[in-house]
Amino acid sequence: MTCGATEVAAALRAAAEAVTEHRDELVELDRVIGDADHGENLERGFAAIVSALDTTGIAATPGAVLKLAATTLISKVGGAAGPLYGTAFLRAATALGDHAELDAAGTAEALRAALDGVRARGKAETGDATMVDALAPAVTAAEDLARQASGTAGVRQVLLAAADAADAGADSTAPLVPRKGRASYLGERAVGHVDPGARSTALLLRALAGRA
Ligand code: ADP
Ligand code: MG
Ligand code: MG
Repeated sequence: MTCGATEVAAALRAAAEAVTEHRDELVELDRVIGDADHGENLERGFAAIVSALDTTGIAATPGAVLKLAATTLISKVGGAAGPLYGTAFLRAATALGDHAELDAAGTAEALRAALDGVRARGKAETGDATMVDALAPAVTAAEDLARQASGTAGVRQVLLAAADAADAGADSTAPLVPRKGRASYLGERAVGHVDPGARSTALLLRALAGRA
């Protein structure tokens, strides 16, 4: 199945609900190794996305909807995650161009562009215990599925494969010594704790998949 702008907007609304549902969990993760605001930052950002969708109506293309989400996150969310997620959505929007429908291959390409954007902006690599540890395996899983299924997988299946890989990637951050962002200030003391941004990446992908 492919997705138009309406489905992409619905998926973003689902992401906003998921962020609210998991807000406290994200705050707790960030309390241990950061400053306890990751859940609030994301909740504020995604609530602003929902308001923007309500006010502007649904844009013409999936790319335009994602661009609205990106500019909203960049303008409304401070800290590390706002600009990083904003960049991810912006690069994904650019990758989609002005196509009216998003398909499995396009989804994988958009995720790859999002990862490239996060890496360019935050300079984190796999193993640094950041959202990159969730997003990088998610992209690989998405690309594998989009390629192997040769046209039979839909956007939802690609996003679900990405979410599964992101969950495993988020879990993989627990034993790591963080090397980027606030958690890196703790060094060894952060070992044993899952990175909040890696967790939020996984839950966002799962929520997006649910409505795509
Ligand atoms: P802040 O750390 O400014 O309070 P948040 O708590 O909202 O911002 O987001 C923290 C998350 O941002 C971390 O858990 C991590 O996943 C991600 N992050 C921080 N710095 C980087 C970076 N340089 N590259 C990639 N991700 C990063
Ligand atoms: Mg924080
Ligand atoms: Mg902060």
